[in-house]
Amino acid sequence: MASALSDRLSKLVKTMRGQARITESNVQDMLREVRMALLEADVALPVVRDFIARVKEKALGQEVAGSLNPGQALVGIVHKELAATMGEGVSDINLTVQPPAVILMAGLQGAGKTTTTAKLAKHLIERRKKKVLTVSADVYRPAAIEQLKTVTRQAGAEWFPSQGDQKPRDIALAAIDYARKHHFDVLLVDTAGRLAIDEALMAEIKDLHATLTPIETLFVVDAMQGQDAINTARAFKEALPLTGIVLTKLDGDSRGGAALSVRSITGAPIKFAGVSEKIDGLEVFDADRHAGRVLG
Ligand code: GDP
Repeated sequence: MASALSDRLSKLVKTMRGQARITESNVQDMLREVRMALLEADVALPVVRDFIARVKEKALGQEVAGSLNPGQALVGIVHKELAATMGEGVSDINLTVQPPAVILMAGLQGAGKTTTTAKLAKHLIERRKKKVLTVSADVYRPAAIEQLKTVTRQAGAEWFPSQGDQKPRDIALAAIDYARKHHFDVLLVDTAGRLAIDEALMAEIKDLHATLTPIETLFVVDAMQGQDAINTARAFKEALPLTGIVLTKLDGDSRGGAALSVRSITGAPIKFAGVSEKIDGLEVFDADRHAGRVLG
């Protein structure tokens, strides 16, 4: 396990003792450590580069070089900048629309879409006092439809049936019609994922988006995906106007650098974090706490 960034920086600062003053090149050395820490946390390289450039500007502007404890000063700037980058934007679900508010769940297979759909249903029922319907448009995996049914029940929401021989668009239209007639506040639409991005998947989810005109389009991404998260995020951003991100599996042992990559690439706010397999394992994303984790 690599040592925490603050330890590494204080070691570096110790080696500078005896120098008359901390120079710009010392700051460069310290930034190299920051860069290593971010790469170890699995932040994608282009995102790390951008981030370091921003921090460098701030660090030099705020005279880390002149401060009594330059290592700590730099960690402070990095932490603040990380939290600001990951924490920008509105966190809760936007429901300011004529009901039913439609929420479209997008992401790769295995990212945690179905689980998150049920967790979100529970959140909206308990915290926002909403009447929630779920539906699965995953016509390729009957097991996924059944899984949504099971977890929806656990969440205390209602599940709208769908079948493998239907078209995703027809399922969506039927569900929305049912939601309207039965006065649901929210319709959560779980979608098919693939193990990797493919054109058919993207065309299908684009069509679903056009059919449903959802108020929220959430990109669900596995924090353990690390460096690969950037490519997935880019593909989904190109296909859909994402309104938020749910970062799942943060209970795993990744440092969660995917948060920074995905936030930077999509521009969408990270709204929630998945922290267990259980139905109540969803938290409002806390950027400040997450910044500490990424830095190790
Ligand atoms: P989908 O294919 O995107 O619908 O993914 P699923 O919802 O089926 O989730 C895939 C696996 O990840 C399942 O075993 C879930 O229990 C698990 N999972 C989802 N979210 C989390 C999470 O936040 N933490 C943990 N530990 N496991 C999760």
